[in-house]
Amino acid sequence: MRPRIAIAPHPNPLPVRTGRGSPRSTLTVMLICDEYITPASLAEAFAALEKHRGRYRVVAGCTDTLPWAREGRAGDVEIPVLIDVSKIPELNERHVGDTRVRLGAATPIQRFLDDAALGRAMPAMPRCAVWFADDQIRAQATIGGNVVNASPAADATPCLEAHDAIVELASAKGKRSMPLREFITGPGKTMLAEGELVTGFECDAFPSYGGSFEKVGHRRSLVISIVCLAVMVKLDRDGRMIEDTRLAIAGIRPVPRRLREIEDLLRGQPLTGALLEQAADMPLDLVQSRTRQEYRRDVVRGFLVRGLIAAAKRAGAAPDALTIELEAAYG
Ligand SMILES: Cc1cc2nc3c(=O)[nH]c(=O)nc-3n(C[C@H](O)[C@H](O)[C@H](O)COP(=O)(O)OP(=O)(O)OC[C@H]3O[C@@H](n4cnc5c(N)ncnc54)[C@H](O)[C@@H]3O)c2cc1C
Repeated sequence: MRPRIAIAPHPNPLPVRTGRGSPRSTLTVMLICDEYITPASLAEAFAALEKHRGRYRVVAGCTDTLPWAREGRAGDVEIPVLIDVSKIPELNERHVGDTRVRLGAATPIQRFLDDAALGRAMPAMPRCAVWFADDQIRAQATIGGNVVNASPAADATPCLEAHDAIVELASAKGKRSMPLREFITGPGKTMLAEGELVTGFECDAFPSYGGSFEKVGHRRSLVISIVCLAVMVKLDRDGRMIEDTRLAIAGIRPVPRRLREIEDLLRGQPLTGALLEQAADMPLDLVQSRTRQEYRRDVVRGFLVRGLIAAAKRAGAAPDALTIELEAAYG
């Protein structure tokens, strides 16, 4: 019998089913596998996916996979082969240009705090990252894992959606790409095919926009959001006219959603408190979640005004464009 690898010790002993009748019920693990493979290239990864077809799970930071195994949602915490794609160079590349950003799928969330050029090009992301889990998880958790996990309230997805992200996919058969809004099809569901990896994301860059990210969960961090909202605003040189805005929300529907109706309402309008409050009333009908509907509606309204105020201020809003009363009400 090949040696088995316990990839994460856990203080509370979990009964481990070996399926071979061996008396190992006191071993403390979260997830066990026979083989843990770390491909050094895409070619190696595709070879491993082919060789272990039907027996593998792809992992990157493992920060969704380990808790999932620990909660026993799989019904079985034994996965024969784990294929860790986090060291593949193509998945760690990034290019930040004036109008486009290309991010490898294994980009850790922490990078949005460490890389100033990236933070400028994607101005809602650093605000998302700062409230994402804790230092340890942020260093491990990848943007690709966040998207493929397809939680209805994953924090990075509305940010990417606001940037019109294109998902890049590759398999031994070749490459393809599709908009993020087509890639995520439902809670936990994506268009990822067998033998395929997400290699990266290509997005619009918005270095002249102000950004904000609003999030609420049971606690502010170390928790998956109930509702989260990414906001980006571009103002004219005087800081009084909204030239452009990008808004995307998650947690109120099965998949994240761009708020294009609100973007259209705001674009080309003078920045006033009345306009922001009118915008905040628009998306209430979009709340489809079956639980806590009224609460989520209130949250969405408050988030929109607060997010727009914060993003407009970071975009250089004229000091008297928004009243102190409005800021106090939504601060
Ligand atoms: C304590 C804690 C706090 C957290 N807080 C937050 C939070 O604040 N906000 C939030 O959004 N999430 C949070 N999470 C969830 C998790 O950290 C994120 O979803 C994270 O981005 C997942 O990335 P990962 O690389 O760790 O995923 P993994 O667990 O490695 O993988 C997740 C899924 O993606 C697949 N996958 C990963 N990479 C690829 C790839 N390149 N190609 C194909 N499939 C791939 C895997 O097969 C798996 O199905 C938290 C988790 C924990 C444990």
